Amino acid sequence: MGFNIAIDGPAGAGKSTIAKRLAKELNFIYVDTGALYRALAYAFWNQGIAPDDEAAIAKACEDVSVALVYENGVQQVLLNGEDISAFLRQEAVGNMASAISVYPAVREKLLSIQQDIAKQEDVVMDGRDIGTCVLPNAQCKIYLTASARTRAERRYKELLERGEEGDIDVIENDIKERDHRDMTRAIAPLKQADDAVLVDSTEMTIDEVVAAIKNEVSRAMNEA
Ligand code: C5P
Repeated sequence: MGFNIAIDGPAGAGKSTIAKRLAKELNFIYVDTGALYRALAYAFWNQGIAPDDEAAIAKACEDVSVALVYENGVQQVLLNGEDISAFLRQEAVGNMASAISVYPAVREKLLSIQQDIAKQEDVVMDGRDIGTCVLPNAQCKIYLTASARTRAERRYKELLERGEEGDIDVIENDIKERDHRDMTRAIAPLKQADDAVLVDSTEMTIDEVVAAIKNEVSRAMNEA
């Protein structure tokens, strides 16, 4: 097993920004597990499957192949062998990902992909259930959160930077809906693992969050 850092938390908490920075500074691989759920959502969306059609989704899971590859440390998601990373960040794909991630067939399909990477490599892996389900033995677990308004403001800024438009109240509502679904689903709900360290980034800068988590990583490395 590599050295595994698990970062879980709700949408827009800054997990990917922080995890990417940490991975770079530690020379670990950054594994964005949300991209796997988004890839399946994108596949089903293109096939015209409705998010509430569990039977069709379970069937489609059998026929689709998803893989992660790394080029110069940058993650690419392959769907049936094709790199679709560029299509995954849209809000609609994220909402569909949240809707389909409640299904056992979807979660089972993606579990071993995540576990296999962490067995072989030192990883910073972010998601919703990494510390609780995917990597229960991770040496360092962080639960990163922030207030819903702050997370909506960050998403809104990201959209503007990409030249897209958005309504901050709509984004905040989407975030709350997604949190609720992620936290209340029957399988692998989003929650802080018993042995995870809570970091609330509402009033923190990115540098402060990275420094706080690096402290925890150093502590965990000394104990390992
Ligand atoms: O993190 P991101 O916004 O890319 O994740 C999209 C959706 O995928 C989440 O809202 C969540 O429902 C699902 N997901 C999950 N478990 C993970 C990562 C993401 O259920 N480990």
